[in-house]
Amino acid sequence: MQNLDKSSVIGILGAGTMGSGIAQVAATNGHKVILYDINKEAVESARNSLVSLYVKLVEKGKYSREEADDILSKINYSDSFDKDLECDFFIEAVVEDLELKHEVFSSLDELTPPTTILATNTSSIPITAIASACKHPERVIGTHFFNPAPLMSLVEIVPGILTSNSTIDVAKSLMAEWGKTSVIAKDTPGFVVNRVARPFYGEALRILDEGIANIAAIDSAMKDIGKFKMGPFELMDLIGNDVNFKVTKTVFESFYYDPRYKPSFTQRRLVEAGLLGKKSGRGFYNYDDQSVNPKPSDDENLKIEIFFRILSMLINEAADAVFMNVASVEDVDLAMTKGTNYPKGLLQWADEIGIEKVVKRMSMLHETYAEDRYRVSPLLNKMLKEKKKFYE
Ligand code: NAD
Repeated sequence: MQNLDKSSVIGILGAGTMGSGIAQVAATNGHKVILYDINKEAVESARNSLVSLYVKLVEKGKYSREEADDILSKINYSDSFDKDLECDFFIEAVVEDLELKHEVFSSLDELTPPTTILATNTSSIPITAIASACKHPERVIGTHFFNPAPLMSLVEIVPGILTSNSTIDVAKSLMAEWGKTSVIAKDTPGFVVNRVARPFYGEALRILDEGIANIAAIDSAMKDIGKFKMGPFELMDLIGNDVNFKVTKTVFESFYYDPRYKPSFTQRRLVEAGLLGKKSGRGFYNYDDQSVNPKPSDDENLKIEIFFRILSMLINEAADAVFMNVASVEDVDLAMTKGTNYPKGLLQWADEIGIEKVVKRMSMLHETYAEDRYRVSPLLNKMLKEKKKFYE
C-alpha cells in the first residue's frame, strides 16, 4: 500500500453536500483534488458554491485572496469519470444506494491499480457489502465524515471484514494529516454515532408519546440540566424528520428489529404529513412567526426525571457498543463529543454519576415496562458487580 503525502491526488466521487465538503478539506490540506459527479449541474453547483464560500471567507479575513485562490485552484472538476483516474486515494460520496455504490466501486476496482485505497463515506451501508463489488476488498474502507465536513472534526474509520491493516493505517494517517479526530468503528449498523445517539431521539419521543411531558419540556430538560446544545425535538426538526426517521428505521431493520431501536409512530406521522422540520416551516415546532409553540415546564423535578431517563438510555447504549466491541471506551466518548457535540463523553458521565445509579434507573424502566428495549447492558451489570469505572 503506498504512503500518501501532500503530492497525493485525492479523487472524490459525488459532488453533493458531503463530496464538496470533503474536497474542501483535502484542498485546504494541500492536496490536488479531482471532484467528479455524474451530473454536470451538480459539478457546476459545487464549483459555484465553493467559489462563493471562499469569497466570504476572504471577506471575513479567514484567508488572503492568494490563499483562497491557491486552495480553489487545487480542486479540479470532472463529469467524465474514466479520464481522471490518476488519483492515489478515492473517497466515494454518491447517493446512499447500495446498487449505485456497487457500480461505482466495481468501476474503481477495474480501473485503478489494486493498491489504491477506495474509501466510502456511507453512513448506513455495511462497508463489507460495498467491498463485495471489488476483486480487491482489502483496499476498501469506510471514512464517515459528518456534515459539514470542513467543520466537524470527527471521522469514523470503518474497516470491512476483509480490509487490510495497511489500508486502515493509511486512512488513519491521512485523516490525522487533515486534522481530523478519527475513531475506529466495527462494521455494524450505525457505526458508533448513529447507533449510540438513537435514544436521544427515541426516548424523547417515547416520553412524549406517553404524555409525560411536552416537546418544550423535554427539550429544556436536556438543555438546562444536561447542557446539550439543542433539545431532541429541536434537533430532529433541524436534521429533518424524514432524514432522522430514515436513519432510525435503517438502524432498526439492520439490527433485525431489536426493540431498542424501534422508530416512533409520532415521527412517522409527521413525515407523512410533510412536517419535516425547519426546512418545511413546520415539524415538531412551528417556525412561522405568528405561531405559538408549547412552553417548557417549570417543574424542575420533572425535568430532572426526563433528563436522567434519556441520559441513562444513552449511557446504556454507549456501554453496549463497547460490550459488543464496536469501539473502545475512549473512541465512543470521542465520537459522541466530536461527531454530535455532546457536552461530555457518555461513559465519562457514567463514571461521574455512578454506574449504580444508571443501572438502577434502567432496571426500574425494565421492570415498569417489561420491554426488552430497557434491558441493562451486560457490561454495566458486570462493572457494577466488580465495582469498576470506565476510566480508572
Ligand atoms: P447528495 O445527494 O448531496 O450528493 C450525492 C451526489 O452524488 C449527487 O450530486 C449525485 O449527482 C452524485 N452521483 C450520483 N450517482 C453518481 C455516480 N454514479 N457517480 C458520481 N456521482 C454520482 O448526497 P450527500 O448528502 O453528499 O451524501 C453522500 C454520501 O454521504 C451518502 O452515502 C450519505 O449517506 C453520506 N453522508 C451524508 C451526510 C449528510 O449529512 N448529508 C453525512 C454523512 C454521510
